Amino acid sequence: MKGVAVLGATGSIGRSALAVLEQHPGEFRAVALTAHRNGAALAALAERWRPSLAVVSDGVVPPGANGATAWRTGREALLEAATHPDADIVLNALVGAAGLEPTLAALEAGKRVALANKESLVCAGPLVLEAARRGGGELVPVDSEHSAVFQCVRGASPSEVARLILTASGGPFRGWEPERIAGVTPADALRHPTWSMGAKITIDSATLANKALEVIEAHFLFGVPYEAIEAVVHPQSIIHSMVEMVDGSVLAQLGFPTMELPVLYALSYPDRLPYRCRRFDPVAAGTLTFEALRHEAFPTFGLGVEAGRSGGTFPAVFNAANEVAVAAFLDGRLPFPGIAESIADALARWPGGAARTLEDVLHADAWARRAAETFVQRLAPC
Ligand code: NAD
Ligand code: MG
Repeated sequence: MKGVAVLGATGSIGRSALAVLEQHPGEFRAVALTAHRNGAALAALAERWRPSLAVVSDGVVPPGANGATAWRTGREALLEAATHPDADIVLNALVGAAGLEPTLAALEAGKRVALANKESLVCAGPLVLEAARRGGGELVPVDSEHSAVFQCVRGASPSEVARLILTASGGPFRGWEPERIAGVTPADALRHPTWSMGAKITIDSATLANKALEVIEAHFLFGVPYEAIEAVVHPQSIIHSMVEMVDGSVLAQLGFPTMELPVLYALSYPDRLPYRCRRFDPVAAGTLTFEALRHEAFPTFGLGVEAGRSGGTFPAVFNAANEVAVAAFLDGRLPFPGIAESIADALARWPGGAARTLEDVLHADAWARRAAETFVQRLAPC
């Protein structure tokens, strides 16, 4: 029986993870569950799962919290969940750079980190890899594209891999002209064609910032240089990604879109467990198509990949400016094209620097948040 800590249990990935645990009560036990503000939703989950620890990272212990569970509040308590002695696996399904310190703590404590929180690797890839080496922890991807690559490269040596081809749905504005995209509302951007996800990643999918974050994530996870990582638009979201081997052979992993399967694989790896889900039917899947990504319509993608290539603290600046801009767009304080503009402004003004320590990364993150907020306020109508 493996103990699982689910960080962000009330979110979209957190709920997929609990659906996976539901089908395998003999294999996994939820030992810690966390939520940011929604203590009532967490209390309902604690009632069902009876974890040893429940954490509300920015709130209070809800009334009626059950006695079998120890309740804690605050950011420090998140680290307690990430390093819980009964947790073999920490599923990090937090959103944003807030997931970084729990990822580092879990890896330092020798845990397997089933990583949905791609922002951890984007902000501090080298520090995350170093924490895993030092603590003996292990990183297993949950992001569907990276789970696909992880499954395709299994058994291959790094020298056999030539290229990673990450697929992107293209988001709700695929094929739209930039002038039309300029006027979209948060409601338009939240209508994702193939995946149902949390608000932040849904907006990232509409700008294609998500695909840039994933290119950086793949670079660190698989040790592949940026020149050998490509993204292609595949509107059906059936092929989750592809790997080209040095001999030209291409492997792909496919299935109907669901995050439960990548979560299950991250928990069961290196084994596979049976699972009840909609089985693949190639005829029902129908025609699979591919298109080039349109850089002029989705400038955020290029900004992110360029930040990745620049290295050091540039990816942390890209990520933090994006988080602020997405929140401002969702609040109605920034038009959609302002997301790319505020990121570009922050990246252009950041002097750069190494990301050798957590403090380096947190400093860059805080600077970029201030820069992006100032940009948003300058754009706001008086
Ligand atoms: P979500 O918004 O649905 O859930 C986020 C969870 O984290 C919630 O439980 C929330 O309470 C908690 N949380 C939010 N802000 C926090 C903070 N500052 N500190 C601590 N806890 C906080 O998000 P999601 O869609 O489940 O995405 C989670 C992560 O997984 C993101 O990094 C996202 O990019 C990644 N991911 C999501 C999907 C998907 O299908 N949803 C797919 C691939 C990757
Ligand atoms: Mg993904």
